[in-house]
Amino acid sequence: MNPVEGKAIRLSGLRKSFGRTEAVAGVDLEIADGEFFSLLGPSGSGKTTVLRMIAGFEPPTAGTVELAGRDVTRLAPFERDVHTVFQDYALFPHMTVEQNVAYGLKVRRVPRAARLRQAREALDGVGLADLGPRRPAQLSGGQRQRVALARALVDRPRVLLLDEPLGALDLKLRERMQVELKALQREVGITFVLVTHDQEEALTMSDRIAVLHEGRIAQVGTPAEIYERPATAFVAGFVGTSNLLTGATAEKIVGRAGTYSVRPEKIRVLSGTAADGPPEPDHSTTTGTVTEVVYLGDTTRFLVGLDAGGRLTALQQNLETSSEDVAALRGSRVALRWHHRHNFRVPDAN
Ligand code: ATP
Repeated sequence: MNPVEGKAIRLSGLRKSFGRTEAVAGVDLEIADGEFFSLLGPSGSGKTTVLRMIAGFEPPTAGTVELAGRDVTRLAPFERDVHTVFQDYALFPHMTVEQNVAYGLKVRRVPRAARLRQAREALDGVGLADLGPRRPAQLSGGQRQRVALARALVDRPRVLLLDEPLGALDLKLRERMQVELKALQREVGITFVLVTHDQEEALTMSDRIAVLHEGRIAQVGTPAEIYERPATAFVAGFVGTSNLLTGATAEKIVGRAGTYSVRPEKIRVLSGTAADGPPEPDHSTTTGTVTEVVYLGDTTRFLVGLDAGGRLTALQQNLETSSEDVAALRGSRVALRWHHRHNFRVPDAN
């Protein structure tokens, strides 16, 4: 991180209304130089609107946008040192891949030889050195995605904004591109701001995440902080499976009032004689009936209706079990057990 200009982006009191809809309802946020930062939230939470205000496509109703310490709130997109990669990649269909990548340089009147060299370097950087002469229609989705990245990176912007850049790709390719995108970001050291509604994508790639809910930031933190210490019940449910113990159920199982989040993979499912075994020190134990069993190949998800009220989801690795074994547990009595330290008290449970 540059010690003089550590902040790539600062948003202060940022708001945007469309008529009566308050799309962004007061966002304060700082993103450091070189950070891979994600705006994560459900559809309509305001992520894209925040990104468009950073890019300059949308004037804020109130508040300011600073880039590298400079107030750019009133500047046009081209006057800001940012580049946006859209979900549909917005490639020019009549141009070759190389011309697409070189286009921004042409607009800035970079001489022909230099822009071709830089375009080739950028294509090489995303693993497409051989595809320069093709047209976008002759590429796969993943290749098009990489061309869009090369076109953004060739401009060497200080900040790259990515709006659901992997949304159009199938699951396997998306997972591969997540790893590649993260590696590329580390290599170029540019600040990336990614908009996504996919919690796994945000957890995989980001240094930090802001979870948006109804135009406001519900929590900002590292992936581990967001996942393991959710600040609100909304975050606990949106990032991972909503597994909350509340009210009387929490008092019975945890022994204290409050709302607690327990992650499904921390819960052991004990069936048969194991369910009747003695309690273990420092563990929470509760009993219930399995209402649903979902076999996922490497793991199985159990939904358990608790005798104490409410229900919990538990995720078990299929170490020695088969799909027949786990299916047989539907309707059976089980005990659920997990270590006390996995009862995380949700600070703002509203
Ligand atoms: P998605 O994941 O579906 O893209 P999002 O979190 O990016 O959602 P935004 O696109 O920022 O959400 O939209 C936030 C709210 O603002 C929504 O209620 C949306 O309908 C509204 N909105 C966004 N753009 C406009 C617009 N140009 N005119 C009117 N309303 C808009």
